Amino acid sequence: MSLTAERLDRISPSQTIVITGKARALKAAGKDVISLSVGEPDFDTPQNIKDAAIAAIQRGETRYTDVAGTMELRRAVAAKFKHDNGIDYAPEEIIVTTGGKQVIFNALLATIDAGDEAIIPTPCWVSYPDIVALAEGVPVFVPCGPNQRFKMTPEQLEAAITPRTKWLILNNPSNPTGAAYDAAELNALTDVLLRHPHVWVFTDDIYEKLAFDGLRPATIVQVEPRLRERTITMNGCSKGYAMTGWRIGFAGAPLALIKAMDKLQGQSTSNTSSISQAAAVEALNGPQDSVAAMGAVFQRRRDLVVRMLNEAPGLHCLVPEGAFYVFPSIHGCLGKTSAGGRAITDDAAFVEALLEEEGVAAVHGSAFMFPGHFRISYATDDATLTEACTRIQRFCAGLR
Ligand code: GLU
Repeated sequence: MSLTAERLDRISPSQTIVITGKARALKAAGKDVISLSVGEPDFDTPQNIKDAAIAAIQRGETRYTDVAGTMELRRAVAAKFKHDNGIDYAPEEIIVTTGGKQVIFNALLATIDAGDEAIIPTPCWVSYPDIVALAEGVPVFVPCGPNQRFKMTPEQLEAAITPRTKWLILNNPSNPTGAAYDAAELNALTDVLLRHPHVWVFTDDIYEKLAFDGLRPATIVQVEPRLRERTITMNGCSKGYAMTGWRIGFAGAPLALIKAMDKLQGQSTSNTSSISQAAAVEALNGPQDSVAAMGAVFQRRRDLVVRMLNEAPGLHCLVPEGAFYVFPSIHGCLGKTSAGGRAITDDAAFVEALLEEEGVAAVHGSAFMFPGHFRISYATDDATLTEACTRIQRFCAGLR
C-alpha cells in the first residue's frame, strides 16, 4: 500500500518554492547564485508595523482569536475595501487567513464538488490549478498570450463557460505577467458574467498596491456591484506591505461563503497568528507612505529589467503594468545550444541552463501553464538586478 493518498498525485510541488529552495541550497554550498525566482519584496516590513506587533506581544495578545480574525482587524479590512475599492463589506463578511493561499484553499475546498470547473486564464500563478485539482475540480485553461497583453477577452470568457463552471479565477495585477485590467477591461468581462448567474468569481488582488504609471487596477465588485453576491475579493498584506513572513491574507465575500470558509479553517489552522493580526491592523490603518515609496522603487526596477532583457538576443519582454514580475518570451532562443553545450529545447531547459551556467535562478513559463517564457521577480536591489540581467544577456548572446 502506498504511503501517500491518491489526492496527492493530483498536484505537483509549487515550482516557485522548489526553484527558490534549489537556489538557496546552491548558495549555501558556496555557489554564486542570484535568485530571482520567488515573489517576495526585498524590503523590510515598515517600522510602525513591527512596533505594533511588539506592542501586541507586550500587551499579552498571545492567545487564540476568532477563527476569522480579531474584530479589530476585520473592521480594518472592511474599511480598506471601502476606502480603496468602494465596496461595502460588514466585518462578518470578512475572513483573515494564514496568507493569501489559505483564502484560495478555503474558498475552493468549501465550494467545489468533483467535476466542477474553474476557468483560469493563463499564464496563471502556479498554485491555482493545483488547489482546484485538490478540491477534485477541473481547471479550464484559457491561454492569453502577449499578443493580447496577457489579458482574457470577453469572447474567450464566454466560450469557456459551461453548465459545470463554478468559478472564474482572476488575478489582477497578475503573477507571473504583471498585466493589470483597468475598469473598462473588467467591465467587458462582467458583462459576460451577468449573463451566467451560476458562475462565481474569485478575484485575487494581492498585487493591488503595486501598479505603475498611475494605473489603479480595478476589482470586480467595484466595477459591477451586481456581482457582489457571487464574488470573493481577496487581498492581503504580504506584497504591498512587505509582510510575506507574517502570513496575513484576507477576503470579503457574501456571508454564506465566509461561514463555509470559517468552518473549514476552524478544522485546520484556526486563526492566523494573533501577533501578525495586530501588525496587520497597523498596516491597514496606519500611515501608507511606505507603500507608495516601495511602489516607486519597483517601477524604477521594472524599467531597468525590461530594458536590459529586451537588449538580450532572443528575448522579448512586454512592459508590465503591476506586480513585480516580468514574463519574457524566449522564442528566439529555442532550438539553440548554450555556451556550456546544453540544448535549449524548451523553457525548462532554458532556466536550467541559465542557473547552471550563469547562476541566475528564474522560473520556467510552463510552471505558469504558459511555455516559451520565463518569469523573473525583480523584487531585489538595482545592483543585483543589473548583474543578473547582464548575466542573462551574456547567456543569450552565447547561444548558437
Ligand atoms: N507568490 C509568490 C511567488 O509566486 C510566493 C511563492 C509562492 O507561494 O508561490 O513566487
